[in-house]
Amino acid sequence: MEIVEHPLPGVEFVHGDARLCLAAADRSFTGSVPPLLTHTPDRIDAIDLLSVEHRGLGELLLSALFHVLAGTEEVESGERDQHDRFPAAKSRLFAAGYGDAPFVDLWGDAIVRALQRLWPALQADQRHPHLSLSHDVDAPYRYPFQSPMALMRAIASDGLRGRWLQAARAPVEWARVRAGDIGRDPFDHFAWMMDQAEEVGARSTFYVIAGHSGGRVDGDYDVDHPVMMRLWQSILDRGHRLGVHPSYNSFRSLPTLERERDRVIEIHRKLGLPFEIPPVRMHYLRFDPALTPALLAAAGFSHDSSLGFADHSGFRRGTCRPFALWDHASQRPLDLIEHPLLAMDATLLAERYEHLDQSRMEHRIETLAGWCRRFRGELTLLWHNNYFEQSWHFATYRAALRLLPAAA
Ligand SMILES: [Zn+2]
Repeated sequence: MEIVEHPLPGVEFVHGDARLCLAAADRSFTGSVPPLLTHTPDRIDAIDLLSVEHRGLGELLLSALFHVLAGTEEVESGERDQHDRFPAAKSRLFAAGYGDAPFVDLWGDAIVRALQRLWPALQADQRHPHLSLSHDVDAPYRYPFQSPMALMRAIASDGLRGRWLQAARAPVEWARVRAGDIGRDPFDHFAWMMDQAEEVGARSTFYVIAGHSGGRVDGDYDVDHPVMMRLWQSILDRGHRLGVHPSYNSFRSLPTLERERDRVIEIHRKLGLPFEIPPVRMHYLRFDPALTPALLAAAGFSHDSSLGFADHSGFRRGTCRPFALWDHASQRPLDLIEHPLLAMDATLLAERYEHLDQSRMEHRIETLAGWCRRFRGELTLLWHNNYFEQSWHFATYRAALRLLPAAA
């Protein structure tokens, strides 16, 4: 199966002599298109997937959905960004408009509707759309572990970026935090974030970095430092949970994944709390599509939420619903459920990515929630504790939490 660009705004799947072009949703085409070559989900009701005339079409369509879910394009493409990640900018599915619409859900739903015409008793699954809230703890605090030298560098950097207020406040905040008043730290939004989650009945997952395989890029904290242990306890005491956020160079290293998993389990043991294997999300979303799923499964993880693109929010594997990850080496599904990451603060806000203002960001998250509502999906939202830089970020976060009910 090969995924190729199509001259029309669609994506084409080629298998042997068979070709299938699937158009993005809600687009209208002009020009001459060979019949049965180009389809949109809205037209599939008219196609008898099981007819002799169209034999092979249903098979090709199912095959196309499988390869999108399995990430075949990512495995076969040599395109990678500076962090060795497959970028949305190089995805043909994204180029065809399927970043903003869930390809697999649209076509999977169309297949179910076509089959229901034959077997009216056929039931679609009965899941409910819901919110899944998470936070990667990359920089829990600004000051507790910062040396005076690093403080001076940070102040200089704030000054160069025109953040005068932040630069002026830093020495006082630093001194107070170092004297034990952690609540003065400008990154400490943990209690507020948990308050917001609890108001809507949501249970947040905080992904913890428990190793430094990449050095400074893996943050400046040690998971079992007393300051961090107090934070973990406050999170767990309130009924939220910890996940593992494997460090920068762990995505191709089973021993590193296992070591960092064990350190997060050890936090629970030290606090006298019961634990199970925590969920996982890779730091920087580094993920080798040919290797990382099997390593995560070998390390005993059963829930991952790494599969979003850093450079574009939306549907990296074409779905807003959990699915089993595929191991391309052994050609089998893994006991590892992917909860696709649909929206991350950094992706939506950063100048080098989507760079949205308040109204466009809220509209973007609402649109993603709309797809989840339509296909009974999971609005997986990642908001870092240190990404509340503007006052409207607080309001947008609160609004996002109210788009869908929390998971039961
Ligand atoms: Zn991270």
